[in-house]
Amino acid sequence: MNTIDIVAKKRDGLRLSEEELAFIIRGCVDSSITDYQLAAFLMAVRIRGLDLEETVNLTKLMAESGDIMCFGDLPGIKADKHSTGGVGDKTSLIVMPIVSAAGLIAAKMSGRGLGHTGGTLDKLDSIPGFRCSLSRDEFLQQLEQIGIALVSQSGELAPADKVLYALRDVTATVDSLPLIAASIMSKKLAMSADVLVLDVKYGSGAMLPLLEEGRELAELMVGIATRRGIRASAVLSSMEQPLGRAVGNALEVQEVLEVLRGEGPPDLRELCLVLAGEQLYLSGRCASPEEAKELAAEVLDSGKAYARFCEMVRAQGGNDDFSQLPQAELVVEYRAKREGYLASFDTAGLGRAAVLLGAGRQRKEDVLDYGAGFLLHHKVGDRLKQGDLLLEIHGHDEAAILEVCKRLDSCIHIGDECPPLPALVVGLIRP
Ligand code: URA
Repeated sequence: MNTIDIVAKKRDGLRLSEEELAFIIRGCVDSSITDYQLAAFLMAVRIRGLDLEETVNLTKLMAESGDIMCFGDLPGIKADKHSTGGVGDKTSLIVMPIVSAAGLIAAKMSGRGLGHTGGTLDKLDSIPGFRCSLSRDEFLQQLEQIGIALVSQSGELAPADKVLYALRDVTATVDSLPLIAASIMSKKLAMSADVLVLDVKYGSGAMLPLLEEGRELAELMVGIATRRGIRASAVLSSMEQPLGRAVGNALEVQEVLEVLRGEGPPDLRELCLVLAGEQLYLSGRCASPEEAKELAAEVLDSGKAYARFCEMVRAQGGNDDFSQLPQAELVVEYRAKREGYLASFDTAGLGRAAVLLGAGRQRKEDVLDYGAGFLLHHKVGDRLKQGDLLLEIHGHDEAAILEVCKRLDSCIHIGDECPPLPALVVGLIRP
């Protein structure tokens, strides 16, 4: 077997066997295959695609390229969650405490912000003292003691994905559904939870703006999980506008606390209940999805999820006096330039503007301004008068705020007609 033959086979649109894919993944981890040959392989896959069998095999091989999380004899059903990324998406900080308080083991390794989308770890890092990086033993011990841990990746999960992702990023091969599915699901298989809920976003702020592409990805990922023995479902949710009202790390943690206390924006609460309900349903705790969503709401409204979140913060060294969360030095109001209806957002543009304020990174080594971001005062469909407060800009750098004000003019669209209101959850894909 050799790399050139395998690349040529995929280039010609033929199926690759598990052995051939294993050859590629081995070569990718031990560097016996050069980057330019891997890039050719990726481009052949990007153009010719992979069928379900090939995608499942590739995902499994990528998962097995590194450490596999082993929960040992830790009792209970382990629940994991993944979002394809969004603007204002802080659902993990609400969903995981809900399912933990409802009796599941909420075990999640999260990521940092990517491009215009925020990351769970950056939000947690905005809590003074919070430690995202636990050793594997600390992670397991915390799960045993309080049933929840949200941490950064420990060990080497799916190292093949690291190599392939870095190459995809610079070879125009990111936007391949089988490669995206294999990349995400290899890390999820390596995490080896019992139940998994996938939040697949579509719309102007999502990785895949088109609903149909989002649906295809969701179906593919649920198919992979099911074939590998994980009970998974996917929720297709809209990223046509930011989720909730807060965008930016500490601002989002504040909003998480509001929802956990039974307040907060209704769209954020609703999506969290759908996601938590799916996990509880998949776990077998409830007989129907409706019952599971009701249980999630009960746990949230009882304050138990709030208490579980605070327990997690304390266990990971964070300060649960949330009045100490970082705050921006400057708050500037951005007002409606005309009257009309809030017609739509360029949500990715808004995410990029938040990055400019310091809420995300432009370069890997950038230091975040945890207090920076936006607080939205209106959502799509709202009637506006000229001069109404549309959003608050939180930051510390006057020049960046001025630049953001200019950008917002093209990220927020006001029209004469009331637009059709975008549905938040547009589909559920179950095995
Ligand atoms: N997130 C991932 O982990 N991989 C992809 O390919 C895309 C998004």
